[in-house]
Amino acid sequence: MPNENQEKRISVALDGPSGAGKSTLARAVAKELNLLYVDTGAIYRTVALHVLRRRVEPGDAAAAAALLPEIGIAMAYDPAGLQRMYLNGGDVTELIRTQEISMAASAVSAHPAVRAFLLEMQRDMAEKYSVIMDGRDIGTVVLPGADVKIFLTASCEARARRRWLELQQRGTPKDFEQLLLETQERDANDMNRSAAPLRPAEDAVTLDTTEINFQESLERIIEIIRERTGL
Ligand code: C5P
Repeated sequence: MPNENQEKRISVALDGPSGAGKSTLARAVAKELNLLYVDTGAIYRTVALHVLRRRVEPGDAAAAAALLPEIGIAMAYDPAGLQRMYLNGGDVTELIRTQEISMAASAVSAHPAVRAFLLEMQRDMAEKYSVIMDGRDIGTVVLPGADVKIFLTASCEARARRRWLELQQRGTPKDFEQLLLETQERDANDMNRSAAPLRPAEDAVTLDTTEINFQESLERIIEIIRERTGL
């Protein structure tokens, strides 16, 4: 029987394609509503890093699956609430943010064995904490019973443009056409795979941010969560 005094955990699933602004928005929402932000893409990226380090082709399902037993992943939160990722004990938080890892993560995440390997870890977080979890299949597979499901999207061009601007500001500019192609490639990988393809859950609220700015998107998401949870 559930303990009556046990505080109810809230879970918010935030899914959508690459570059829709999920992580920046999720971080801001988490701060505002006192939720833990779980970035599940970082977990796939950590697997991808190991696969590349072992010189295995990320698209090779059998070879990637064979590496899983040697992959130990841990997550921790630093005092600022930032999620840090550890691969076999080493801090890889910064190393997993390259474009090479983005593409490799998109490839390894299509393998059912990889997805199954990471499922429990993600569910555990939502059992222990009130979370806003972002990814591709949170509302459909990881947390089908989430209190709130939001599907965040924007046109491919708008997402590539935001990424272009971000890289420009970071001092590591990249060609827009190249970024657009990569965004299209990741969309195709994520949407057309048979294992947990990217799609909105039936009970998800879709929010298209092509024409609205960060602040408006943030306010809308907070409003959706408040309406459904009373937070
Ligand atoms: O969100 P992020 O871009 O960091 O994710 C990296 C890759 O991991 C994505 O392109 C996607 O293929 C995969 N991913 C996934 N399911 C998730 C989160 C990420 O398949 N829940």
